[in-house]
Amino acid sequence: MKHDYFEDMVGIRRTLHHRPEEGWTEFETTWFVVQYLRGLSLPVTVGKANINTDEVLGRDETLVRDAMARALKNGVPQSFLDETEGYTGAVAVLDTGRPGPVTAFRSDMDCVLVRESDDPEHLPNKLGFASERPGFMHACGHDAHTAVGLEVARWLVEHREELCGRFKLIFQPAEEGVRGARAMAASGLVDDVNYFLSGHIGGIAKLGEIGVMDGGFLASTKFDVDIEGLPAHAGNAPHLGHNALMAACAASMMLQGIPRHGDGTTRVSVGTLHAGEGRNVIPAHARLQMEVRGETEEVNEYMREYVYDIFAGVDKAYRVKSTVTKAGESTTLLQSPELYDIVEEVMKSVPDTTMIPRVHVPSGSEDCALFIRRVIQHGGQAAFILYGCNHTGHHRRNFDIQDEVSLPNAFRIFTGFAKRVNGRKDA
Ligand SMILES: [Zn+2]
Repeated sequence: MKHDYFEDMVGIRRTLHHRPEEGWTEFETTWFVVQYLRGLSLPVTVGKANINTDEVLGRDETLVRDAMARALKNGVPQSFLDETEGYTGAVAVLDTGRPGPVTAFRSDMDCVLVRESDDPEHLPNKLGFASERPGFMHACGHDAHTAVGLEVARWLVEHREELCGRFKLIFQPAEEGVRGARAMAASGLVDDVNYFLSGHIGGIAKLGEIGVMDGGFLASTKFDVDIEGLPAHAGNAPHLGHNALMAACAASMMLQGIPRHGDGTTRVSVGTLHAGEGRNVIPAHARLQMEVRGETEEVNEYMREYVYDIFAGVDKAYRVKSTVTKAGESTTLLQSPELYDIVEEVMKSVPDTTMIPRVHVPSGSEDCALFIRRVIQHGGQAAFILYGCNHTGHHRRNFDIQDEVSLPNAFRIFTGFAKRVNGRKDA
């Protein structure tokens, strides 16, 4: 029986939405993806095969171990978990056997640490596919990205006789916190790629709108900071303590005061701060998760240097010891204008859509920029697209997408692009 691509795609997206997993812990998701791709008779590599482990950032060994145990309990075979060697992500290759370009499509798979809304009007609640893991939610639409990636893979397999060259279908872990692309790109995975295409649902694109991004990604560095002080009795000997909580608070305030940069937009955020052991003990430990961003590599570097200086200063002032660990990093978007023309040509053929002008407003960060940089540095071309939906804001509890309309638009762009750049000329 012939599969209905759109119906399957929506089904997959909802299945994935139901069981979200955070970055570097996507073992159930990777298993789902790999089963699907191997079901299409595609060769698939997983885990370390696609990852340069020297370049891995923001991966917590304890979370990974817990996630592997959870996956096993939920039916993922031990043999598969062994095959991953503790690293999520998968890559399938489709070789048509005919000479032609190497084209890569990339989808990210991780969720956000948000508790999904329990509003009965929220569609995933209404239809029963809301997250069953409190505190974890596909609130950025990466469930949609993976669903599109898998159904595009099926289309490629079923249309391989019309195609030439090779395809690499990349399913990337840990996009949130810009962590996963760096280690995958550093493995050399995309060094032979001629054309690279990836995208994001939503953003500034409304339902029915599609477009190419030619800028707008902020370079960004994420940090985990551990501050170690010294505990003491808060009543009779506070002078003997070294207060890690106060040091963390002072650093947080100072970070907000980094002077703006004249050459471009900057951002700074302290997202979490946990400190202290007990009410009447001088706090001996603090931990912050924070980030900086910049419109250019240089401006981000300026922010990054300030982070190290501020914690060094606080160490001295509060007699504590800060350890600043890089937990993620991404870059700005390098451009391939010639490829944008091709992508936009394909977009014009997608029914019931409006093509928006190329998007370059500084907004978030996207670690796909690291894949794109690597492709372009090796002589290939790359583009990042938006396929719109109406939403209440990414990373929010009531984030939702119109999967039945939006996902087919993405599918048509990816498959149209495949035909355009890898279409068989001799057929
Ligand atoms: Zn996202």
